[in-house]
Amino acid sequence: MKRRIFIGFTLLVAAFVLVAVLVTGNLVRTVARKQLLDQVVQEAEQISQELVGKDPRQALAGLISSSRVTLVASDGAVLFDNWADGELDNHADRPELAAAAREGSGSAIRYSDTTNSTAVYYAQRLEDGTLLRVAAPERLARGLAQGVAPFLVIAFLLLMALLLLFANIILDRLIKPIVSIDLDHPEDAVVYDELLPLVKRIDQQNKHTIAQMDALEARRMELNTLVNGMHEGFVAMSLKDEIILINPSACSMLGVTEDQALGKGLPAINRSPVILMVLEELRSLGTADGLLEKDGRVYMLLANRIQGRSGAILLLSDQTDKLQAEDMRKRFTANVSHELRTPLTTICGYAELLDKGMVKSEDAGQFYGVILRESKRMLTLVEDILRLSKLDEGHLAGQKAAVNLHEVAKAVSQSLELMADERKVHLSYEGTDAWVLGDATLLDELCSNLIDNAIKYNVENGTVKVRVTNCAQAILTVTDTGIGIEKEHQPRVFERFYRTDKSRSKATGGTGLGLSIVKHAAEFHKAKITLQSQVGQGTSITVVFPALRAQS
Ligand code: ADP
Repeated sequence: MKRRIFIGFTLLVAAFVLVAVLVTGNLVRTVARKQLLDQVVQEAEQISQELVGKDPRQALAGLISSSRVTLVASDGAVLFDNWADGELDNHADRPELAAAAREGSGSAIRYSDTTNSTAVYYAQRLEDGTLLRVAAPERLARGLAQGVAPFLVIAFLLLMALLLLFANIILDRLIKPIVSIDLDHPEDAVVYDELLPLVKRIDQQNKHTIAQMDALEARRMELNTLVNGMHEGFVAMSLKDEIILINPSACSMLGVTEDQALGKGLPAINRSPVILMVLEELRSLGTADGLLEKDGRVYMLLANRIQGRSGAILLLSDQTDKLQAEDMRKRFTANVSHELRTPLTTICGYAELLDKGMVKSEDAGQFYGVILRESKRMLTLVEDILRLSKLDEGHLAGQKAAVNLHEVAKAVSQSLELMADERKVHLSYEGTDAWVLGDATLLDELCSNLIDNAIKYNVENGTVKVRVTNCAQAILTVTDTGIGIEKEHQPRVFERFYRTDKSRSKATGGTGLGLSIVKHAAEFHKAKITLQSQVGQGTSITVVFPALRAQS
């Protein structure tokens, strides 16, 4: 920019200097002509003085002059001319001579055929009526102008150089503050007043841009926090199906790191047919879904093209627990139906026989007994089912209070003493105060089921020892010397309706739900269950409750 301004300015100055030189040259020429005219007037005056009382021709013959001196008769005939070699034509038409004849004197600057040059003429009428003319060639004036011209040119060139230097300094002063403005901190710039509005505008623009960038950054951070905190997997893909954003959940679901995934297509990190199918459907329909199985877990994939924009979004949600729960519910319903049908069939069959009078009166008592036992079994089963569904629905959440486990276990042990006696099992209890943050009814059921099982699955003259200790944590241990549980059954006895010996369980009035309730109750109290058992020797189940302060 500076260069362009400078070139423009130089051209302007050059044009100005050219005009100035021409005008000055013309002026010098005019002044020189004037001087020349004065000179010839003066000479004419001098010569006319010298001619007074003399014969003009003779007097002029002895005249020494660098000018052209001409004496012309009143009719225009040339009487004398110091520059002419021969006869000259009539000069009456010469403007200066015509003017002198008329008015006494006259002057002209014109081209002369006689001298072949432009000259300054002055003529005056003498007393005898003749006309005296003095002329000087203009080259004398030009010579003067030419003499002055170099000085003029030098002066103007110097002026031009000075102007350009000045222009350079001014340009520097104008441009330097603009160039030195730090666009990040325009308010710090030292500038002239006229630049202040510009600086203020840049400053405002900067602040506006910073505010916008901050807002954008905040939104980006919010989005990142949101996406990164999602339990669901989130993958954003470009139009070419390359991954441009992937959150940690999606990384762990697909078993890749962010670096491994970014910039790649989904098939490059997982070649499952489900993924290929989802991508294919996404391309053709703009939306797709599928179930992806990976490392024993099941993920639901939901893909959608971004409306009006390029790219697509893929969401992955872990469906394993939901599917397992669904599966468990289905099995549970099937089991419940099965478990209820058995006693109901017995009750129906026996009642029908009694109703039709097909039972001898002496056997009727036994039939009623079976109906009563099966009804009780059904009642227990229904109660257990209701209890479990309540636990499933989390109805008890938030109802915790400080409960003395020692009191609960002691009371349960006492209530089951009769049953133990009936089965010839020796039941003992020992314990100390052990406070647990929880639900008294649930703790009661936990103890009941464990002690009940220890009695049920025992042998004649066997023992059941119930202990509550309190060493920082409340611990309940129910140890029996019963039949024990085989190794392969041990991990499964806490499942619903799982029994190692169905007939024995049924014979003892078991529902197959007791240990499920124990497991749930322990989970509710964040307690840990351990089972130790040896076939023929007995079983010991320990429930360790967290320290009271650690519970929530
Ligand atoms: P049930 O109502 O059949 O007793 P549980 O859920 O309480 O159901 O127990 C599941 C199974 O675990 C029982 O059927 C039984 O086979 C086994 N079991 C539970 N406790 C004991 C124990 N103390 N000794 C031996 N086997 C046990």
